[in-house]
Amino acid sequence: MPERPKRFVAEKEFPLSPVQMWDLLSNTEHLNRTIGLPHVIYGVPSVGADGFFREASAKAFGVLPMRWKEYPFEWVKPERYAVLREFEGGPMARFWGGVELQPTSHGTLLRVFADITPRGAWAKPMVSLIGRKGVMDTLHYCDKFLALAQAKHRSPLPRGDHSRVSRPTLDRTLSRVRAETEFRTETAVSSSLLGKLEQHLIEGTDEEVLRMRPFALADAWNTDRLETLRLFLYATREGLLHLDWELMCPNCRVPKAEYRSLKDLSAEFHCDLCGVNYEADMDQYTELRFSVNPEVRPAEDAVYCIGGPINAPHVYVQQYVPPGEERVLTVILHDELLRARALRANHKSALTPADHAPQEVTLICRDDGWHPALQTFQPGRVTIRWRNESDKVLVAVIERMEWDERAVTAAQVTAMQEFRNLFSSEVLAPGRQIGIRNLCVMFTDLKKSTYLYELVGDASAFGRVRRHFDFLTDCIQRNRGGIVKTIGDAVMAVFPTQADAVRAGMEIQSSVGRFNHSLQLDPPLVIKMGIHHGTAIAVNANDHLDYFGRTVNIAARIQNESEGGDVVLTQEVFEEPEIQDMLRNFSFEVVRYETTLKDIEGAFRLCRLIPKVSGEW
Ligand SMILES: [Zn+2]
Repeated sequence: MPERPKRFVAEKEFPLSPVQMWDLLSNTEHLNRTIGLPHVIYGVPSVGADGFFREASAKAFGVLPMRWKEYPFEWVKPERYAVLREFEGGPMARFWGGVELQPTSHGTLLRVFADITPRGAWAKPMVSLIGRKGVMDTLHYCDKFLALAQAKHRSPLPRGDHSRVSRPTLDRTLSRVRAETEFRTETAVSSSLLGKLEQHLIEGTDEEVLRMRPFALADAWNTDRLETLRLFLYATREGLLHLDWELMCPNCRVPKAEYRSLKDLSAEFHCDLCGVNYEADMDQYTELRFSVNPEVRPAEDAVYCIGGPINAPHVYVQQYVPPGEERVLTVILHDELLRARALRANHKSALTPADHAPQEVTLICRDDGWHPALQTFQPGRVTIRWRNESDKVLVAVIERMEWDERAVTAAQVTAMQEFRNLFSSEVLAPGRQIGIRNLCVMFTDLKKSTYLYELVGDASAFGRVRRHFDFLTDCIQRNRGGIVKTIGDAVMAVFPTQADAVRAGMEIQSSVGRFNHSLQLDPPLVIKMGIHHGTAIAVNANDHLDYFGRTVNIAARIQNESEGGDVVLTQEVFEEPEIQDMLRNFSFEVVRYETTLKDIEGAFRLCRLIPKVSGEW
C-alpha cells in the first residue's frame, strides 16, 4: 500500500510586506544555495498528455545521487508558490512544497510547507528529518534577512559560503581600472562607484558576480545607469570582468544561449522550454551581461533551482492544468496590458484592462489556441478560470507585456562610442547579418567643403575637418551615440534612442557657432544633418560593426535635404512624445514640408529644426 504524504509546516509573522517577502523567497536559486541544498543538473523539458517536467539530478551532501522529475513551479505573485518533485529512488517518493504569504495588520504571515510521501515505512524517520529541516531552514533564512534589514545592513540578503577573491589580482586590476577612469574627464567614473563594484565582487555570492546586469545593479546601488555601464566596460577592458552575450527567448525571457564574443553569435537560437527556434536580433534578444574574471574570483557557475518565480519576474501567475481539467484561482492584476500564454504550445491571448470589464476571466485552451482569443478584465482582484480542453498538459501563465528596461541590449551598447573604442574587435562574424528593430541613424556633412579646400588649401582645410570630427565625436559620445564611419567630410553615427540622436543633433547645431568662434574659423564650418530611425541590419564591414538597410539610406537622403545649421528629420520622429518632451530644452524654429527622396519610394513629410543661437559665444 502506498504511504500517505506527511505534512510539515512552519509559520511565523514578519514585519515585512508580502511584496518584500516575495522578493526574498521567490529567488529560490539564492534560497536553495544559501540553505545548503546541492546544485542541480536539469534535462530538457518533456511535454505530453501525462506530464510537463524536466529530469533533474543532484548529489545530496555531495555524495548521495538523487534523481527526480521536476514539474513547473506554480505561483500567484506575491501570495504563494509551490513545486512538485517525483523522486526515482531514496526516501522521498514525492515532494510538494512551497510558501504562502498572507498579509496581516503587522506585516505578513509566512507559511512554509512540505507534503512529502515516504517511499515506504522504512523511510518515515528520514522523511521527518528532511521535512522538518527544510521548512525550518527557510524560516531561519527569513529571520536572518529581517535581522540584517533591522541592523540597516546595506544588502540584507542572507548569504552562505561562496568563493573568495584573490586580493592581489583584484587590487592590481582595480588600480588599472582606477587609472583609466579616475583622472581623465572623458572616461571619469566616481571612486564611490568603483568602491561599490569592489565591494560587490568581494561580498556577493557566486551567482551574484556572474552574469551581472549593470543597470539592475545601478538601481540597487543608487548610481547612474550609464556611468555604471561605462565602469563595467572599462573593468572588462582591464581584465576584472568579462563579457557575456545572452540570447534571450522572446517568450520566456530567460537566457537560452551564451557567447563570449559577438563574433560567436549565431543568427538563430533555440529555446528548449518553448520548443521554438528564434532569429537573433540585436535589440531585446541579445543582452550584454558581465561576469567576474575567474582569475580574480573563481565563482562557481552552477544552477540550484531553474524554475522558481525569480526566473520569470514578468509572470504574475503560473498554473499547471492536466488535460480535461479546470483550475480556478484569484490574483490581483493592475491596470496594464497583460497576456495569457501556454508554455510550449506558445498560444497567446491578450488581456486588456477595462473599467467595466468582468472580474472573472475564463480561459479555455484547445489545441488551436485560447478561446476567446481576446479578453478584458477589471483591474483589482480577478478570478481566473483555466480550462484545458487540449490533449496535453497545460502550463499557463499571465504575464506583463513590457520588457525589462534594465537590460543592456547589444544594439544599445554597440552604438556607444566608448564600446566601439574599447572593444573594436567585438564585431559579428564576417558574412553574418543580425537584425535591429530600432536603430537611430545620423548623417552629417560639411556644407561647401570643396570650396573650403580651394579657399584655404588642403592642409588647413583638412585640419579644420579633423577638429570638426572631434567636436562631433564629443557631442555624439555625450549623448550615448557612436561614430560608425566617416566618409570624406561626412559622418555616420548611431544612437540607442531617437531622443539621444535628436538631442545630439540639436546640441551640435546650437554650439557649432561657438566652436567656429573659438577656433576663429573663417569661413565658419556649416554642418548639414539628417536623422532617421527604424529597422536595419548589423554586419561586419572590414572588421568593424556597420549597419545597412532602408533606414540608413533614408537617413543619408534626409541629410541631403539639410541646408546647413539645421537638423532634418521625418515628421513621425518629430512628433514622438519623447522627442517633443526632450525638445522643450531647446529654442528653435520648425519648417515642415513634403518631398520625395532620391531613389526612395513614396513622399516624405520632413521637419527642419533650426536652433535659435544666441549672438554671444
Ligand atoms: Zn522560451
